Amino acid sequence: MSRSKSVLTQLLQLLPHWRPQMYFKASLTALSHAMEDQVLAGSDEPLVIASFQRERFYRQEAQRYRRIAQKSEQVYVLAAPETNFKNCSDVYETIAFEPTDSLTQEWHLIVIGLNYASCLICQERTAAAKEETSSAMDNSRRFEGIWTFDRQVSQQAANIVLERIQDYRPELKSKIQQARQIYLPSEVLAQNVQQLQSEEADNRNWDTSNNNPDPFVQRLVTYLQAGQYKLIKANHSLAIKEHKERLINSVTTAIRRSLNPDEILQVAVQKLGEGLEVCRCLVYRCQETDATAIIQHEFINAGISSIQGQTWPLKNNPLFKEVVALRDALTIDNAISDPRITKLLEQQNQPEDVLQTLVKSCSILSWMLVPILYQGRLMGMLELHHCGPDPMLWKEEDVALVNAIATQIGVALIQAEAYANLQDLNEQLEALDRTRSNLVAITGHELRTPLSTIQVCLESLATEPDMSPELRQVMLSAALQDAERMRKLVQDFLTLSQLESGRVQWNVEPLNLQECVELSLSNVRARHKDNPLPQIENLVTDELPLIQADGEWLVEVLAKLLDNACKFTSQEGKVTIQVSRNSPEHLEVTVADTGRGIEPKRLETVFDRFYQEEGALRRSAGGTGLGLAISRQIVHGWGGQIWAESLGKDHGSQFHFTVPIYLDQIPRQKERQKPSSPSLSPKKSRPKRSN
Ligand code: ADP
Repeated sequence: MSRSKSVLTQLLQLLPHWRPQMYFKASLTALSHAMEDQVLAGSDEPLVIASFQRERFYRQEAQRYRRIAQKSEQVYVLAAPETNFKNCSDVYETIAFEPTDSLTQEWHLIVIGLNYASCLICQERTAAAKEETSSAMDNSRRFEGIWTFDRQVSQQAANIVLERIQDYRPELKSKIQQARQIYLPSEVLAQNVQQLQSEEADNRNWDTSNNNPDPFVQRLVTYLQAGQYKLIKANHSLAIKEHKERLINSVTTAIRRSLNPDEILQVAVQKLGEGLEVCRCLVYRCQETDATAIIQHEFINAGISSIQGQTWPLKNNPLFKEVVALRDALTIDNAISDPRITKLLEQQNQPEDVLQTLVKSCSILSWMLVPILYQGRLMGMLELHHCGPDPMLWKEEDVALVNAIATQIGVALIQAEAYANLQDLNEQLEALDRTRSNLVAITGHELRTPLSTIQVCLESLATEPDMSPELRQVMLSAALQDAERMRKLVQDFLTLSQLESGRVQWNVEPLNLQECVELSLSNVRARHKDNPLPQIENLVTDELPLIQADGEWLVEVLAKLLDNACKFTSQEGKVTIQVSRNSPEHLEVTVADTGRGIEPKRLETVFDRFYQEEGALRRSAGGTGLGLAISRQIVHGWGGQIWAESLGKDHGSQFHFTVPIYLDQIPRQKERQKPSSPSLSPKKSRPKRSN
């Protein structure tokens, strides 16, 4: 029973010269209410036929139609049932049409009285009425059709709809018959058709004849329509703004949830790619001077090839350079016709340009590059690729949106970096805390023991005036010796603290390593002038390249290693110092001894603060337990490595460290510039170290 041909189509076949007009839903509501009010206000008994797309639209007006039914016997209401709307003869006739009927897409109201007639026959332009739309969107629904006061047109429209009513409710045949007789006599209808199909009649329709609405009403409708149109435009731009804000918010919320840069970038491309519905969205970390970047984060739409893991050219990439220079976004709507990409194609015999290669291999048709900046510093790049088939015309609001997201990514990355730095700082603080605890522990023994000795000696000297001069001398020497031990410990501790906290000023310069070794050997010999030393063999030649280091700190490391080697090797043993060049970038210095050796499992721990084989509290060989920790900090300071080797107890030890070669030395040597001597290097602001 349901019909697929719309009433509008049927009517327009009878009116070949009529052009349907566009109406917004809000306008149709206003027009319908005006037509219904006319019925309610009049004394006529008109034929009223109203067709609603859905039962729910009818329900809003049901009360009104009950009042209209008091005016006339001939009132017909049609709707697609949803709950309890059905065929019924009550105060007026209700006709429930099938959900597949074309009437579900239409909106009709026909009023034919003796003194006036009007009809509104419209069809919705979009396929189905949107169920979940907001009221703003609902009012912007568009219909196409006819609204007229033309009696003949209204009669033809009524005739078509009554036919449908009779199809659905054949039992109403006689009532419909009656309606036709009163409102649409057949001879009038037939005459109508002829007239309506002639152009004259059509032209007459547009005249301001009696049948046409009042010009005031016409204007009102036009005004209503224009107002509605403006409203729709405003709603549209609001919707775009809202979409943009929602996207920015969702990206911001998602990336703020993490302090992991990888996670931040992945979430950002995913959300942005989905939100803008682009074929490919990628982000990579880079700096202005980088030659390439690796694509680690990518969003791709179905059917688009992935470029994750690929190396992305930056240095030879004119687009990257342009964005870096502009410090702003760059868009290409159509890569095939963009002069930046096509220019080389025109030049014959030119090798393929980097941009052309990218366009081809990644099927890029439309391109957007947006820099991720933080306070002017380039931190990365966001790229959006559209792969066709038609080019994408990037809108200003798209660029603004991606820019806003790039700013959020920049902030999130900085926060993540700050967090990582904070973690580093925390670790440093923890290390400092450990140092402090160690200091407290060591103070308990290391400082208290010499302090007690000093106190006992000084008390004896003070309370026993008759003490022999020899004993007095012994007491004084003991006090002085322990005061010196305390001074050394405090000194080493301060040096290590400064190195660990990074508060040391490095004075890096080209140095002659042989001179440094000799200087440290003479320091060691001076320190041990009263004790017999093992044999020391210096195998360092003067044919070595210059090194690049801070001379004073280098001598410190050498002296500490030589000191230990002498300390832990008996007089009969031997200490050797030599240098080898195992790499083009650095020299390797080795201090080896034949002394007491180190257990293999202790080779790492000897570099820990306060490590001593005997334990900090049972010291026999003197020292502070900080020498190797200090040496490690110094060597790391110039980017070198330090390590120990030993075959175990009583098998001797070898301490190795690396120091960078001075890279600029060939021209320097030509100029015969004398390298600095460590002893002559400028003084640094650091505590004096023990000798
Ligand atoms: P210390 O002031 O105790 O020498 P270091 O940090 O210089 O402090 O050395 C830590 C520990 O490493 C020493 O106490 C010792 O146990 C071990 N050690 C260092 N150098 C040698 C070496 N050449 N031979 C054997 N053991 C060594």
